[in-house]
Amino acid sequence: GCGICVHKCPFNAITIVNLPEQLDEDCVHRYGINSFVLYRLPIVKDGMVVGILGPNGTGKTTAVKILSGQLLPNLCGDNDSWDNVIKAFRGNELQNYFESLKNREIRPVVKPQYVDLIPKAVKGKVRDLLKKADEAGKFDEVVRELELENVLDRDIKHLSGGELQRVAIAAAILRDAHFYFFDEPSSYLDIRQRLKVARIIRHLADSGKAVLTVEHDLAVLDYLSDIIHVVYGKPGAYGIFSQPKSTRNGINEFLRGYLRDENVRFRPYEIRFTKSSERTSQASDILVEYPRLVKDYGGFRLEAEPGTLYMGEVVSIVGPNGIGKTTFVKMLAGVEEPTEGEIDWELKVSYKPQYIKADYEGTVFDLLSKIDAAKLMNSFYKTELLNPLGIPDLYDKQVNELSGGELQRVAITAALIREADLYLLDEPSAYLDVEQRLAVSRAIRHLMEKEGKTALVVEHDVLMIDYISDRLMVFEGEPGRQGKALPPMGMREGMNRFLASVGITFRRDPDTGRPRANKEGSVKDREQKEVGEYYYVA
Ligand code: ADP
Ligand code: ADP
Ligand code: MG
Repeated sequence: GCGICVHKCPFNAITIVNLPEQLDEDCVHRYGINSFVLYRLPIVKDGMVVGILGPNGTGKTTAVKILSGQLLPNLCGDNDSWDNVIKAFRGNELQNYFESLKNREIRPVVKPQYVDLIPKAVKGKVRDLLKKADEAGKFDEVVRELELENVLDRDIKHLSGGELQRVAIAAAILRDAHFYFFDEPSSYLDIRQRLKVARIIRHLADSGKAVLTVEHDLAVLDYLSDIIHVVYGKPGAYGIFSQPKSTRNGINEFLRGYLRDENVRFRPYEIRFTKSSERTSQASDILVEYPRLVKDYGGFRLEAEPGTLYMGEVVSIVGPNGIGKTTFVKMLAGVEEPTEGEIDWELKVSYKPQYIKADYEGTVFDLLSKIDAAKLMNSFYKTELLNPLGIPDLYDKQVNELSGGELQRVAITAALIREADLYLLDEPSAYLDVEQRLAVSRAIRHLMEKEGKTALVVEHDVLMIDYISDRLMVFEGEPGRQGKALPPMGMREGMNRFLASVGITFRRDPDTGRPRANKEGSVKDREQKEVGEYYYVA
């Protein structure tokens, strides 16, 4: 009972089989002969947040380029006018939209996916950047809501990932546009910030704007969207936007791998979240008992209580940004010296840092085979790790040309093929789509179980935490000032402790078992808070 329950599923079946057929009609754009083809588009509606759920490489950005007027779709022929596009969408929700677009009445704003790249394109102080963007005259309000007061006078190039994300979201919201697109707004944010950003984006829709968003944290997508489209197909080859679906239904159909209205099965098995059975790892052998550790940076102080790690278990590390999670992991990795306490173990440690650099000269295959060439040929590693993460497709690519999501998958693989006793993975889900997050979760679990190794995973995605963890390590305190790391504890106790500090309650969806955030102040929210069950385990 690892808490993951995947029905009718050979363990390596994360790759999509039984692909749905390409369509005969509704072809919107084809990049060229034998190039990617996009079918259908998401709807765009004033006053609504439309969520998009689907793998990378299935045409989400292409759709946004079309909807923002940057790309005239060729309708998979030689179309060269917006009039034909309007005709092609006659009777569709998008007909009026394309008419406005043609008359240049639509002004789009895009929050890009890879916020790490922003410092390369934009220089200067945060305040100046946001002042320049402030067409809506909401500077003070937006800065307050996104808690950016403390970074206003900082240079863009000195911001952390989470700060860059919030600055980018602020810059988009400050523009006075009609159509807002947020490409993965939750990367690098902690759970409280994610739900806060979700509420801010919702306000934008409540004030009448049209909002489209791609989001791979399903708890956030659920909280954020009025309706969703599932995109399915074959990444890199073609993508099809589903009919709009209610948010709950759409996410459940996605997890089931079957779209009801379309009668399409796009995954051969369903993904279910079971109540996390308190797993039996405590019965197994102790890997290490680490001592009380303190790191004092001057401005920030972390104190970690002593704790025990067991062999074969996965422990998730949860807590707000700036609370010392990375600092703790770095001490275990031997990258930072503790100010008090000592790590004097003989353990081999493999570490994937939070921010990964692509400064390696050579191909992905070079990089990985230098770490452990035998594992690349090993059938267990192929079926459990390399194939599910799509690594063989990347072998010939230059490491310094990988996209953020590709680099993340390579870095996770590099960490997991290294021979070690303890694996430390700092935020592995950033920039991964949902299938990839599940593939990574499953790979980590299976490798630790099979090899009796131990993993510590810093994670903010509640579904992934639920899916992957045996136990939890909760960090509490005052972000940026002082943090306290509690010893690893059971899932129920840990989730209650963690979510109580955030003030958010979750329930389980009756059909798929997935965690859903309760709306603040709803009946369920109040009831659960009263009895102290922030996370519905029963
Ligand atoms: P997503 O946003 O879902 O990740 P994209 O719309 O960015 O997907 O890309 C879908 C596919 O189209 C990818 O395989 C990409 O390589 C391809 N593609 C994107 N732009 C072009 C282009 N200008 N010419 C040819 N192929 C392209
Ligand atoms: P988390 O991973 O929980 O987001 P971190 O461990 O990265 O938190 O950071 C905790 C605090 O320590 C932050 O306020 C950060 O700015 C500070 N910090 C991290 N590294 C250093 C350093 N090398 N020198 C000074 N302060 C640091
Ligand atoms: Mg961190």
